[in-house]
Amino acid sequence: MTEQETGRIIRVTGPIVMAARMSLAQMYEVVEVGLLGLIGEVIRLDGEVATIQVYENTTGLQPGMPVRRTGLPLSVSLGPGLLTSIYDGIQRPLTAILAESGKPYVTRGVKLPPLDAVRRWHFTPRLQPGMAVTGGEVLGTCPETQLIEHRVLVPPQTAGEVVEVAPEGDYTVRAVVARVRSATGVETELHLAHPWPVRRPRPVRERIYVDEPLITGQRIIDILFPIAKGGAAAVPGGFGTGKTVMQHSLAKWCDANIIVYVGCGERGNEMTQVLTDFPQLTDPRTGRPLMERTVLIANTSNMPVAAREVSIYTGITLAEYYRDQGYQVALMADSTSRWAEALRELSARLEEIPAEEGFPAYLPSRLAEFYERAGLVHTLAGERASVTVTASVSPPSGDFSEPVTQHTRRFIRCFWALDTELANARHYPSINWLTSYSEYAADIEDWWHGKYPDWTDLRRQTMELLQREDRLQQIAKLVGPDVLPDQQRLVLFVAELVKNGFLQQSAFDANDMYCTPEKAMAILRLLLAFFRRGSELIQRGAPLARLRELPSIQAVVRARLEVPNDAPRRLAEIQDRLNAELDDLERSHT
Ligand code: ADP
Ligand code: MG
Repeated sequence: MTEQETGRIIRVTGPIVMAARMSLAQMYEVVEVGLLGLIGEVIRLDGEVATIQVYENTTGLQPGMPVRRTGLPLSVSLGPGLLTSIYDGIQRPLTAILAESGKPYVTRGVKLPPLDAVRRWHFTPRLQPGMAVTGGEVLGTCPETQLIEHRVLVPPQTAGEVVEVAPEGDYTVRAVVARVRSATGVETELHLAHPWPVRRPRPVRERIYVDEPLITGQRIIDILFPIAKGGAAAVPGGFGTGKTVMQHSLAKWCDANIIVYVGCGERGNEMTQVLTDFPQLTDPRTGRPLMERTVLIANTSNMPVAAREVSIYTGITLAEYYRDQGYQVALMADSTSRWAEALRELSARLEEIPAEEGFPAYLPSRLAEFYERAGLVHTLAGERASVTVTASVSPPSGDFSEPVTQHTRRFIRCFWALDTELANARHYPSINWLTSYSEYAADIEDWWHGKYPDWTDLRRQTMELLQREDRLQQIAKLVGPDVLPDQQRLVLFVAELVKNGFLQQSAFDANDMYCTPEKAMAILRLLLAFFRRGSELIQRGAPLARLRELPSIQAVVRARLEVPNDAPRRLAEIQDRLNAELDDLERSHT
């Protein structure tokens, strides 16, 4: 590029830089700012003046310093080596830096390649010369980690005839592994990796209706407020209600193939903790490190706000890339409120007219752009694959009427409302069963019924019980619980059992942290069968006190902790004992 095309800084306000002589720049073009060449992105053009958001600390930038255009939109590199990596918001690798200094800190202006340039991957081609290919097809494969095979994709916009394919062998991400000639005779070199602009959704053949649950191993989610593969859920909750613990549990246990975890630290050291914790987690299903199927994107509080703002797009682009390989991908974002605050701060620096609570008027459209990238699809290669999103929201003082929570509601169909009162009572997960909802239940019902025909019935009975309990509690508060008839006190009693024995789930207990659908259904069946028979017995005059004292009741409540997932027999034994005790009681009341 010639000297005339180099811009000049005219103003610096925090992460926002204005530069003149930028008439040739494009919106969203990446530029290198100042003497260090800090990475920035053009976010507004006004004649020859460009407004740039800079992804690195801008200290020391001065008017008059150069701004170089790159001609490219802000992009990520997609290829083998993403898994096990830890990146910042613009895909600079933190893993290497972390190993050396123990701190996630990137030196300004340093351009580290996102994918290891030296490492060789064992590539096995799937295509042959002479074949016609279109974007999204699998060019070949290479084992990326012990857990995941990487499918090297023909970039979406490439199509034509394969002219040459590299033989099976070991290649770096930069090596040419194929050549494709387009209909017009233009040859394109294909590599193990290709770039993609983060703000543009990757294309798919078609989006399809969700019809299968993402099994999370969390009872209250899987049974009462389920999420579909390809769905989007919000996890709103005040400080300390368990959002991060929940997202970690989902990352560890949900039945997605690939996890993309975008952390926007709430507390100073929280992300540093994620960075040290995550690499130590084992994948419960294989015993291998969870990182072998995870990409981590970390924003610490010392990183510039612009990098935080873009990190969710970086994350979802990586998720789409593994979806395009045919995988089920789950993305956790914790917390999107920190992302929204970055948006607010940048907007203020741009001197835009603020909307509610200082957030820019385009907050909802940005949220929509993010959530719309979740979904179940047929990929360009024709496979069924998905990106599921769970995003936590941290409303100040837990007030869900604030803008981020309210706008998020419009774009998700599953709302797991974490409740401060429940958390204070150490009822975890603190999902409030009266204010949470899932609109996916009907979509995935057939899947459940194929395995558990009573899924819908049990959900409905449980929800009814909990709603009845809520109404009765209001009355009990006025008149005292002892005034209520035994039938109603039975509702209170069984609801208590459901809370302690089913809804609560410890993220730290070895037996309880993950619950198979089978175990969850069995516990719920036990509880509801007890409710039914208990109600009949009370009808016949048995006192509630006798029901409360049945020795097996405690075994039912402790089953979540004491019965391992692989011992369903033990639940059947509890059921048998409880039935025998109920039979005894029945005999004494007939
Ligand atoms: P938040 O991210 O909403 O601020 P955290 O996820 O950090 O809250 O949770 C705060 C604390 O709550 C945790 O340190 C843990 O002690 C407790 N907690 C949350 N969820 C659970 C759970 N499922 N089981 C046990 N303890 C939990
Ligand atoms: Mg948190």
